[in-house]
Amino acid sequence: METASLTSRLKAKARELGFALSGVAPATNADGFPRFRDWLARGYAGEMSYLRTQGDAREHPRSILETVRSVLMVGMEYAYGAGGVSPLCAFEANCADVSQGAYAPRSGKLAAYAQGPDYHRYIWDRLNALAAWLEAEAPGSRTEAVADTAPLLERDFARRAGLGWVGKNTMLINRRRGSFFFLGAVLTDLDLATDAPFATAHCGTCTACLDACPTKAFPQPFVLDAAKCISYLTVELRSAIPVELREPMGNWLYGCDVCQDVCPWNSKPREGVAFPHNAELAALDPIELLGLSADQFRERFKRTSLWRNRRAGLLRNAAIVLGNVGDERALPALERALGDAEEVIRDAAAWAIERIRQRYSNVNSGLPSSPSV
Ligand code: SF4
Ligand code: SF4
Repeated sequence: METASLTSRLKAKARELGFALSGVAPATNADGFPRFRDWLARGYAGEMSYLRTQGDAREHPRSILETVRSVLMVGMEYAYGAGGVSPLCAFEANCADVSQGAYAPRSGKLAAYAQGPDYHRYIWDRLNALAAWLEAEAPGSRTEAVADTAPLLERDFARRAGLGWVGKNTMLINRRRGSFFFLGAVLTDLDLATDAPFATAHCGTCTACLDACPTKAFPQPFVLDAAKCISYLTVELRSAIPVELREPMGNWLYGCDVCQDVCPWNSKPREGVAFPHNAELAALDPIELLGLSADQFRERFKRTSLWRNRRAGLLRNAAIVLGNVGDERALPALERALGDAEEVIRDAAAWAIERIRQRYSNVNSGLPSSPSV
C-alpha cells in the first residue's frame, strides 16, 4: 500500500473524528527526554510519583509499542472563554466587593478543558476508533492509541510532527489554533509519511504567561514547577494544599487557564471546536459543592473530568475558594464541613473560616478588609 496515500487518508479520518490537528513523527528517541529528566531531578513533578516511576519509559515510544515505527500526533480543540466570566482575572471572586453584596455565588471557576465530558474517555474512544481504522486498512499492522496517561512526551512528539512549538508557558502552541486543545497519539509499526518538525518558536520577547501566573510557578521560561501550579494543586494533589499557595488560587476550583488566557496566540477566533461544551460546568457554586455527599458527588460528576479529583479534592478546593471570596454567608456551610470525615476538607474549611472572620474583624476595626488582593 502506498504510504503517502494511507497517511493522507489516516489524517482525513482523524479530522472526521474531530481531531483538527494531525501530523506524523518518526518513532525515535524523544528530543526532550534530557530536559524531562532534569525537570524530574529538580523536584518539579511534586507528588506525581508515576512520572518518576515511569520516567525512563519516556525516552522512546517503544516502551508503549515495541515495534513502533511512526507516531501520529493529533489535537482536538476545546472551547474556552465560554463561561461568561472574565478569562483574565484569576481573582474574580476576590475582586467582587462583597461588603456591598456583589458576591455572585456561582463563582468557582473550572479550567476550560474540564467544562465538558470526561476528556480521557472522550479522546480515548476516538483515538481507539482511529487506531482500529488504521489496522483495518493495513491488515497485520499493530497500533496503540494513547492520551495523557501513557509514558509518551506528547508535546515533544507533537512539535516533531509539525503541530507547533512549545511556548514559554510549556504548552504546545499552534499558529492557527493557539493552545486550547487535547493531544493524543496513535503509535503504529507502519512507516507512515512523516511531517517536517516545527523548527521555529514564536514567543519572541513576550512574557505575558510568566508575569500573569498567580502562584509564580515558572522558575524560568519554558520550565514549570508543577508543585506550585494551580492545575496540579487542585487536580493532582491529594493532600492539603500548602497554605502559602491557597490565597493565590483565587477562585479556581479545578485547574487554571491563566497562562493560556493571556497568550496572544489564543486571541484568534476559532471554528469547528469538536469537544462538547457544558455551560453548567463553566462556574460552580462552592457553597453548594461543600454540601455534596459521596453519592451526590458521584451522581453529578461521574461522567466529567471532575471525577478524577474525587469528592475530597473538590470540596477541599471549594472551601479554599470560599476563604478567598471572603463572604461571611459561606460560614454556615464551612462550619458544617468542619465535621466532614475527610481531613483535607476539615483543614481547608478551618482555614477559610479563619480568613473570613479575620476579614470581617478588619472591616469592623477599619483595617484593610481584603485578605487576598
Ligand atoms: S496553569 Fe495557572 S498556576 Fe499553572 S502555570 Fe499556568 S498560570 Fe500558573
Ligand atoms: S504568553 Fe507569550 S511568552 Fe507565553 S506562551 Fe504565549 S506567546 Fe509565549
